Amino acid sequence: MPRTNFVAGNWKMNTTKASAIALAKEVAAGVTSDAVTVGVAPPYVYIDAVAQAVAGSKVLVGAQDLYFQKNGAFTGEISAEMLVDLGAKFCLAGHSERRHVLGETGELVSKKAMAIYNAGLILIHCVGEKLEERQANQTLDVVRKQLNELSSGIDDPARLVIAYEPVWAIGTGINATSAQAQEVHAFIRAELAHIYGTHFAQRVVIQYGGSMKPENAKELLSEPDVDGGLIGGAALKPDTFLAIVSAGI
Ligand code: PEP
Repeated sequence: MPRTNFVAGNWKMNTTKASAIALAKEVAAGVTSDAVTVGVAPPYVYIDAVAQAVAGSKVLVGAQDLYFQKNGAFTGEISAEMLVDLGAKFCLAGHSERRHVLGETGELVSKKAMAIYNAGLILIHCVGEKLEERQANQTLDVVRKQLNELSSGIDDPARLVIAYEPVWAIGTGINATSAQAQEVHAFIRAELAHIYGTHFAQRVVIQYGGSMKPENAKELLSEPDVDGGLIGGAALKPDTFLAIVSAGI
């Protein structure tokens, strides 16, 4: 089965309830093709409202994070089961802001990633190097280590998405070139083939993230191993987000 491009919007800590619903409705109205999978990840508190706003459309609702335990005394946390209950279909793990701003360790990212997958959600596992790591030629080592946060038990390639997001490209306006992205995406696919076999690896969607916008989306998405995008800033406006979706058709 061929891979389908997957474009997901990460709204981060943005929007109000009213603006989240309005944005979701405009995105839903603009997605008419099945040629690209489209998702939006609002803040937790708006997931319910956004899920209702896009009900009946082709748009998937997801979450930006979760906690790995099923329930219990974990004040302030949200479980995978709660996300499923609200209609979420996917969840991120290991976004660079969680790793480098909120201080999540690889061990915690690993537990979260497996909780997402084991709850039946699509796991978007985020990997990517910092600028100093790229400059020290450590990009592939960093990405390999982050891929190894996935533990055994992943057996459905349709529910595993890897987002390659070089930290230096996130929110900076400076995107990786399509050649830089393709090099790392091909490496990720080869690593996945090593772990899960070639057939499995060929079916895994590998998104690019980091200042993807309408002006660069077509070129990035034309690379053979770039299968969509994880979009931050450009996902907050329906026009720019839908233009990236169109570039993926
Ligand atoms: C992101 O945060 O996942 C991201 C890619 O952000 P931006 O598109 O704003 O660089």
